[in-house]
Amino acid sequence: METVKLNDESGLQAAIQYFSEPLTCLESVSKAKWPNGPECPRCQGKKLSFLKTRLMWTCLACRKQFSVKVGTIFEDSAIGLDKWLCAMWMLANCKNGVSSYEIARALQVTQKTAWFMLHRIRYAQHHGSINNMTGTVEADETFIGGKARNMHKAERARKITGTGGTGKAVVFGLLERETGNVRLSVVKNTRRHHLHKQISENVEPGAEIHTDALRSYDSLDSEYAHKVIDHAEAYVDGNVHTNRLENFWSLLKRAIRGTYVSVEPFHLYRYLDEQSFRYNERHATDAQRFQKVLNSIAGKRLPWSVLTCQEAG
Ligand SMILES: [Zn+2]
Repeated sequence: METVKLNDESGLQAAIQYFSEPLTCLESVSKAKWPNGPECPRCQGKKLSFLKTRLMWTCLACRKQFSVKVGTIFEDSAIGLDKWLCAMWMLANCKNGVSSYEIARALQVTQKTAWFMLHRIRYAQHHGSINNMTGTVEADETFIGGKARNMHKAERARKITGTGGTGKAVVFGLLERETGNVRLSVVKNTRRHHLHKQISENVEPGAEIHTDALRSYDSLDSEYAHKVIDHAEAYVDGNVHTNRLENFWSLLKRAIRGTYVSVEPFHLYRYLDEQSFRYNERHATDAQRFQKVLNSIAGKRLPWSVLTCQEAG
């Protein structure tokens, strides 16, 4: 049989065909997990024997048997890598995300299993960023879910200041103009303390920050060049705006509304990881985006107990 190869033009169909071969799946995951070749998770030994019938290795030094799933987001899962990798391909590339119902139908697993798989893949999509944002950075906040949806922004800012249980959540975003990359976080409310904390953790001092006139952004001046968009002013500096972040908010809201039946505030940050990952990798090809997620599977585990068992879209 001719081996299919994945390349920059590959789409979902090619991926499904490619990953229908168990050994191909194993090799793809193995390469991503152990760039220098497989090693024993117990003693780090590299002298191994491979059992092709069981797709397992045995360490010749300590006799430990292990699969490629050990120490990755796939650990403890009975679901085959073929299904995992197709789900990963879909979540890495479907522009508006993919719901657990769609995954369940496409891969013949239960919705609950699909939901768990998607959360683990989102976990792999989470990249702790090391470098602070520099240059010009847009900062803005938005409200997701609950009653906030139909409220005017000024009204929301006034009413939603506590931690009330109306199902809404405050998302804070930063967009670096030079790269166009976004960074998102769920914050407790729009009070100064929370917003300033996010800015100081993610933006290099001296950067120029553009915000709207929300009072919480006052006093950024001490560390940043703070420019405020004031629509009441007669003269508006065309370069001072948060338009790109506002465009991102509408993409985000469309994706969440269109694909996910509901997003529990508790899980919201994982959806944000997913959306910001796809957005920040928007210039990559499907295969490259997939590979990027696959490269992040190692060292990440997400036991069921960490997730709650609530039904979610
Ligand atoms: Zn060993």
